[in-house]
Amino acid sequence: MVRIPRSVKRFARVFVDNAHELYIVGGAVRDALLGKPLDDYDFATSATPEEVKELFRRVIPTGIQHGTVTVLFEGSQFEVTTYRVDGDYSDRRRPDGVTYTRSLTQDLARRDFTVNAIALDPITSEIVDPCGGRRDLAERIIRTVGCAADRFSEDALRMVRAVRFTVTLGFDLSPEVPAAIRRCSGLLDHVSRERIATELEKMNVAPQPSRGWRVFRETALLERFIPELTEDQDSPIPVFDHLLGSCDCAPAEIPVLRWAALFHDVGKPRCYAEDARGIHFHGHDEESARMATAILERLRFSNERIQAVTHLVRHHMFGYESEWSDAALRRFVSRVGPAEAFLLITLRRADACGKAGRAVPSPILDEMEDRLKTLIKEEPPLTRAQLAINGRDLISELGLSPGPLLGIVLDELMQTVLDDPSRNDRQKLLEIARNFQKQRLNPGK
Ligand code: ATP
Ligand code: MG
Repeated sequence: MVRIPRSVKRFARVFVDNAHELYIVGGAVRDALLGKPLDDYDFATSATPEEVKELFRRVIPTGIQHGTVTVLFEGSQFEVTTYRVDGDYSDRRRPDGVTYTRSLTQDLARRDFTVNAIALDPITSEIVDPCGGRRDLAERIIRTVGCAADRFSEDALRMVRAVRFTVTLGFDLSPEVPAAIRRCSGLLDHVSRERIATELEKMNVAPQPSRGWRVFRETALLERFIPELTEDQDSPIPVFDHLLGSCDCAPAEIPVLRWAALFHDVGKPRCYAEDARGIHFHGHDEESARMATAILERLRFSNERIQAVTHLVRHHMFGYESEWSDAALRRFVSRVGPAEAFLLITLRRADACGKAGRAVPSPILDEMEDRLKTLIKEEPPLTRAQLAINGRDLISELGLSPGPLLGIVLDELMQTVLDDPSRNDRQKLLEIARNFQKQRLNPGK
């Protein structure tokens, strides 16, 4: 039995007292029936948006093109969508227009999957389930409402959503679905990349995204949006399984790491080389970074996300050893960034876990992490901004002029301070800069 808050019941009363219907629908009902707490409600009503406006003082037309309005009620915001049947899907993307209906059953029938097509009456707690959603919930199956291939032809994004839901819910696909995806996979080219990315992002932070990625590949859907992940097809280096294993092993609460793990070796097939020294993949970190950027740009991820993922992929081959001096460690942190240094260690652990198929202890990474923590507590200067002097000082004190030489001198000072943080002192740095300048002007002396 689903517990429904009193304010939601009072909200529904307003509709019913005015001869309208109001139901909780979609993901909220599905999740509630799976025993998760109800918090995010989607409501469906027989009332048109105009009729809803007459019932409440504060009604905002937040998604009026889909028949959705937001009602402010007793301090809550409730999203209410008028029952609709979708028009033609001639462009295979979006319904041409919205057509309202007074029939809840019709509204449920236009929804994508049976488990998403269940309605709950907030007042009586009655369940309306014309598509067999509860049976599929019990059997933990994602099944389309109606013929799978037809529904995928109407809106090809549903293929991605089907796979995504199996991962986020831990369900299986109904057996006819993979075959239908295979047949309809080409239609995905008509779907906007942003819509695909929204689903992928939800999938990739679930406990085991590899399940979804594997189905994407088996159904030929993957080559439609990330063909790079299928490049190991005829390569001697089958990197896909390793990438999936690493992705699963990366912590779900850090999406950047999940994506970095998925792409960290994606360039290996392109970099494969065999010579007298054996097999190697020179430059695969840089190639993988380039590919990660291209993939995430194509999917319209934010620039911030693209840069963060690419940065981790680019630096994932760091070769820490116990012999590293503190200065070497500081130079590493200065190069990759303090927070990123810890993420790179976590990425390396996921990499190892992906290879072994289980978490593997790594004393060397533990040691590196401990040393990093100690080092960062000491707050050594790691960036140019933390130097005791800046470009203006060099111009006024040494008579340098703005230009490339200034950057070279600052870089030299940075290296000096990374070697020995006690030299981060205005007078000392000016002295060093003077000597450096002399040496450059009279090389060999
Ligand atoms: P989540 O909890 O992940 O948000 P959800 O079921 O709420 O899952 P939404 O994308 O928020 O998913 O969509 C809300 C509801 O709208 C779905 O439960 C489904 O009934 C319907 N729906 C969403 N997208 C489609 C689609 N492309 N085709 C048909 N129905 C859809
Ligand atoms: Mg939702």
